[in-house]
Amino acid sequence: MQAKTCPHCLVRKLLTEFRHHAGKRDGRSSWCKLCDSQRDKLLQQHPIRRLKNRDNSRRYRALGLKRETELRHVKRYQAKYPERKKAGMAVTHAVQAGRLIRPNICSNCLRVPERGVVQAHHYDGYDKPLVVQWLCVQCHADVHRSRRATGGTAMTLRLGRRPRR
Ligand SMILES: [Zn+2]
Ligand SMILES: [Zn+2]
Ligand SMILES: [Zn+2]
Repeated sequence: MQAKTCPHCLVRKLLTEFRHHAGKRDGRSSWCKLCDSQRDKLLQQHPIRRLKNRDNSRRYRALGLKRETELRHVKRYQAKYPERKKAGMAVTHAVQAGRLIRPNICSNCLRVPERGVVQAHHYDGYDKPLVVQWLCVQCHADVHRSRRATGGTAMTLRLGRRPRR
């Protein structure tokens, strides 16, 4: 029986403890049933529930749920990958000091991110904190996803891929 960890309560549970969700990769909601129903209750009691469905982020933020989840994510991530945090800090400092230039377009899809900034991807390993490829959030997520899928070795991207949408 498959199991996964609910990112909200951080408890590892069987997949059957997660609601069916056709839009998700594993066919299950990302939060466990318990957290999902707690959130539903909050959303029902709250007047902002009339906001459109796709405006979830605003609803969560208003409820303080998204922030809490985000913070837990960041903390867990930093504890798990201290070298990534260090490499990321080194990039931030180098950019601030003018030793590194953060471009405004993604080097892979050549798009200007609509939100946020182009991120530094440490394609040659985190022990070389200033050896980076600049990627938008989507391409950066893609490269790490494909890296995981190949067992953690492939750090490069199919360069020059055509922009999506
Ligand atoms: Zn949960
Ligand atoms: Zn991109
Ligand atoms: Zn990266």
